[in-house]
Amino acid sequence: MDIKTLPQDLREEVSCPVCTDIYRDPKQLQCLHSFCLQCLKHWHRTSHGRDTIRCPECQALSKVPESGDLKDLPTSFYLNDLIDVLVIKECKSSQVQCGNCDKKSSETSYCFQCCIFYCPECVTGHNIMRNNKDHRVLALKDFQDKELEDMMKRPMHCSKQRHEKEELKYFCKSCATAACQSCVLLDHAGHALVHLEEEAERQKLKMKSLIETLRRNLRVNINIVVQLDENHAKLMKKGEDLKREVQKFVDNLFATVEAKKQAIFETVEKVTRKSLETLAVQKTELERQIKSIQSSLEKADKLLIRNLVKVLPSTAFDII
Ligand SMILES: [Zn+2]
Ligand SMILES: [Zn+2]
Ligand SMILES: [Zn+2]
Ligand SMILES: [Zn+2]
Ligand SMILES: [Zn+2]
Ligand SMILES: [Zn+2]
Repeated sequence: MDIKTLPQDLREEVSCPVCTDIYRDPKQLQCLHSFCLQCLKHWHRTSHGRDTIRCPECQALSKVPESGDLKDLPTSFYLNDLIDVLVIKECKSSQVQCGNCDKKSSETSYCFQCCIFYCPECVTGHNIMRNNKDHRVLALKDFQDKELEDMMKRPMHCSKQRHEKEELKYFCKSCATAACQSCVLLDHAGHALVHLEEEAERQKLKMKSLIETLRRNLRVNINIVVQLDENHAKLMKKGEDLKREVQKFVDNLFATVEAKKQAIFETVEKVTRKSLETLAVQKTELERQIKSIQSSLEKADKLLIRNLVKVLPSTAFDII
């Protein structure tokens, strides 16, 4: 792995999604999600069946190892490498735990052959042993990118008890697991075995083709989403057009009704005005007649009072 392709946020990358702490003994499920062994054990105890375990992240089911012990799930060596890179990058600000005596120290070293962090006391002990005389040991504070890359090229060791020193060299196709020489002899007799690099290459190709398929599906889905967006926009526009047309129709309808109302008002006003005029004319005429009658009456009264009525012309009664 090229050190320049390391994830941007290394701490987040090596944090377990269940406990949010840095992974302890990260185990990988078949969906490729990883969790601390203890987190998985607790999760499995509280929520699930015996033979399968549901991924806390994506809910996919993975098979529990035949031994029934989740410790036998594949270790995520990639995450272990990243955790050690993080430890080394942060060694100046925080103490590092010794892989031999568990003591924390700010003067820790790393052995490229034992693949272990050593406190100053343990590194002294390590260095005086004849078997270790060819081991390459370096203080963490002296690590550069080159050393980090060397560290990440370290061999993977078997996680089974008493196999810790044995390198994982094989892959058992029957059990879908990596195996060391001892595992092969003890647990995989007669099984279909291949070299680990061969299997890694095969899985790499499989993953590449899977990624390609996923990319293709993603493109198809993106196109569908674009199409849906376009349809959405078209529908919105159609709706708006329809609303505008209805508004126009209603506006026209109101204008027609308003015009009709105005015409009726005008007719009513005209008829009323005409009737009022006729009434006024009639009233004036009647008032004139009343006045004329009143004056005739007054005259008649006067004639009667003065006893002047002799012979009146016959037309004199027409006014009564
Ligand atoms: Zn955890
Ligand atoms: Zn998952
Ligand atoms: Zn130590
Ligand atoms: Zn060593
Ligand atoms: Zn083994
Ligand atoms: Zn096997």
